[in-house]
Amino acid sequence: MPMQTTVDAPFQPDQIDAINAYQQSRRFHPFTCQTGDRGVLAATTQGLVCPYCDYTQTWVYAWMADGTWQAMETTGAALKDKGDAGNQG
Ligand SMILES: [Zn+2]
Repeated sequence: MPMQTTVDAPFQPDQIDAINAYQQSRRFHPFTCQTGDRGVLAATTQGLVCPYCDYTQTWVYAWMADGTWQAMETTGAALKDKGDAGNQG
């Protein structure tokens, strides 16, 4: 697993906006619930919560919270093309 900088809750409003935009962008695979219901987590002050159960994730990658991912759009498109060839799950 590669080393990546993470940010822990509580999240600030601008971080929540950036994380939720990421989660809904469809450019990248969003964080989903780890209990098996595949809920796409939604950012709140206290962490990322599942819409279907009480699962909460209290961290995100720093590049998600600071909006860096929005500059990674072209890379995401390239990855998406590869993903179509070998669909998982
Ligand atoms: Zn869940």
